[in-house]
Amino acid sequence: MFEAIKGGARAFAEIGLGLFYPNVCQLCREERATAKQGYLGIECRKKIQRIEPPFCSRCGLPVEGAVTTNFVCASCRETEFHFVSARGAARVNTAILEVIHRYKYQRALYFEPFLAELLTGQAGPALGTEWDLIVPVPLHPVKKREREFNQAERLAECLSRATGIPVNHHAARRVIQTESQTRLDRAHRAANVRNAFAPTAKLNGERVVLVDDILTTCSTTNACAKALRMAGAGPVCVWTVARGA
Ligand SMILES: [Zn+2]
Ligand SMILES: [Zn+2]
Repeated sequence: MFEAIKGGARAFAEIGLGLFYPNVCQLCREERATAKQGYLGIECRKKIQRIEPPFCSRCGLPVEGAVTTNFVCASCRETEFHFVSARGAARVNTAILEVIHRYKYQRALYFEPFLAELLTGQAGPALGTEWDLIVPVPLHPVKKREREFNQAERLAECLSRATGIPVNHHAARRVIQTESQTRLDRAHRAANVRNAFAPTAKLNGERVVLVDDILTTCSTTNACAKALRMAGAGPVCVWTVARGA
């Protein structure tokens, strides 16, 4: 009886979605795509490039040509990281950026099944059973109030459902509302966010998977990983949906 009601409610919700969004790809609006496909059609999905080896073993930056499994890129050789490794599911390109920006800033939640599938498809098998906790990169409370939406929290929940690793939303908080990172170079980005996070929980050596939507210079995730280590976390690894240079 209960199951029937739940099933019915789900079907009703899907019909509801269907009323607002016909089965059309929301990226190109030229091909068929269903709610289950995250409203992203076959042709647009082909534009998403999943990251496969070889990549830098620290920061996950894809590299061309044959390299050893422990290859570390030039910029990682001179940077001190608070995480053991960072990985992205797909390369940053116009298609994935468009999907993420609309999900993040316009609450295009219909893209979530696609983003979740992309992240969990790549991260799930790689994480295995070695990790205890998933932590999303927190937004500053003011920004969260404005946006009413933290994409990293939602993606962390999706990864948790797929892997069974619990989420902790309160391990760290953002104490400084940093100015936009987009117009700053690498060194300025790092300085801009260095102390942006503070530990807020007492961890006992849990091995943490830090989740965000996009990874570019690693400065934000590195600052957050530092706060988690201060909170008492064991090793921290980073997983994001997209990885840019
Ligand atoms: Zn399309
Ligand atoms: Zn690297």
